[in-house]
Amino acid sequence: MNNKLYGNLIFELSHEGRQGYSLPKNSFGHHEVPADAKRAKDAELPECDEMTVVRHYTNLSENNFGVHNGFYPLGSCTMKYNPPINEEIANHPAFINLHPLQPEHTVQGALEVEYELQKNLAQITGLEEFTLNPFAGAHGELTGLMIIRSYHEKRGDAKRTKVIVPDSAHGTNPASAAVCGLEVVEVKSTPEGLVDVEDLKPLLGDDIAGMMMTNPNTLGLFEKEILEITKLVHDCGGLMYYDGANLNPLLGACRPGDMGFDVIHLNLHKTFSTPHGGGGPGSGAVGVGKILTEFLPQPHVIKTADGKFTTTNNIAVPGMDTPTAVSAFLGNYSVNLRALTYVLSLGKENFRMVGPLATLNANYIKESLKDDYELPIDTLCKHEFVFDGLKDKSTGVTTMDVAKRLLDYGYHAPTIYFPLLFHEAMMIEPTETESKDTIDGFIEVMHTIAKEARENPEIVKSAPHNTPISRIDDVLAATHPILTYKQLVNDKN
Ligand SMILES: *Cc1c(COP(=O)(O)O)cnc(C)c1O
Repeated sequence: MNNKLYGNLIFELSHEGRQGYSLPKNSFGHHEVPADAKRAKDAELPECDEMTVVRHYTNLSENNFGVHNGFYPLGSCTMKYNPPINEEIANHPAFINLHPLQPEHTVQGALEVEYELQKNLAQITGLEEFTLNPFAGAHGELTGLMIIRSYHEKRGDAKRTKVIVPDSAHGTNPASAAVCGLEVVEVKSTPEGLVDVEDLKPLLGDDIAGMMMTNPNTLGLFEKEILEITKLVHDCGGLMYYDGANLNPLLGACRPGDMGFDVIHLNLHKTFSTPHGGGGPGSGAVGVGKILTEFLPQPHVIKTADGKFTTTNNIAVPGMDTPTAVSAFLGNYSVNLRALTYVLSLGKENFRMVGPLATLNANYIKESLKDDYELPIDTLCKHEFVFDGLKDKSTGVTTMDVAKRLLDYGYHAPTIYFPLLFHEAMMIEPTETESKDTIDGFIEVMHTIAKEARENPEIVKSAPHNTPISRIDDVLAATHPILTYKQLVNDKN
């Protein structure tokens, strides 16, 4: 690739006076922009011909790694295939040309989509009612915790200000609790990687608002004592929160509602396909059991007795208590639309196979690689599992090195250095959408890298070699980020 032409910033390709587009003839006459609305200086915009712009951005997009480029086994992030039919539906003019302030009788179909998704998610999880308003998993956690808080406050039980979080939890759990004004209490894991019930018991009391859990947990292990745990927390007056960002392994196998959970959030942008990465777009749908439906945020789509769809801020619903909005309008509508497309295009029978297949794929990789990679918890996993770096520690090759070397072979790295329970954590989640050929290719490359680490460690330590940019200095990037074009120019001078 010619770096001079395509690898630079669009500003560096700019030539004064060059044009790629002409505006249509003005048919509205001359209107002067009011002086106070005018900028003092012309905007500094790149001036390029159309072909340069098209090639520049096409080439940049090809430097980006996505699920459509190759295998992306990012543990705890469920990077599953996003079928083109999702995009087809989400880009349908009947949806993209809607305005959120349109009269309700003109958007009955669009409201029905939200209603249908709410109902489908309730059935899939075993909960009563869903809201699709939150924009992300962490946003869903905050919404769910606000619901738990409102529940205790309404009962006059305001001293319940503590939330129990396992030490293996995703970092957003304690963060969301703190943002919600709740105090985080950590419960330890057993050596087998499960919540230690004996460590949990003394933490329970009349100051506990609830407990946040993921099952299977962040190590990909099923919490076998879950019924005992939900009972203990309920008996002390607390509620159970399920972090369902990665619901994948449960699909077709069991439901959080049946395990005793009261509130759940789902990352529709993980488990329910829909593309994600780079911070968005997302949808952190929140579901609640019967005792909590009155605390769902508004607006909320419901079906009226005469079969019409409406939102609860347009209608007085007996018992609906919270005026709180957590987002504008009805959340990230196009992500919700993709999620419903995904559910309906799979259908009930195929949907049942998602969890078992994701689990089979993860165990197949784990068993195939555990001779070369350290498996700290050697047991049957669910949809994902964690290695603690290479088995042979004498090579000096780290998890970071392996992750970078994978890029040379055309694979995205797994999640690395998370969870924090192991020094060289490498968390692998293949999902159900990969073929055996793809998975076998990944296994082969992981073996090759382990062999290179033994025989020629330098090649792994200095990877990647085949990517447009070789290894970057993470610390420098974090401490001296170059965030604007101007700064780059100044630094060059
Ligand atoms: C991804 C993830 C989250 C956070 O979701 P965001 O959409 O990134 O806010 C929370 N919990 C778990 C277990 C996750 O994997």
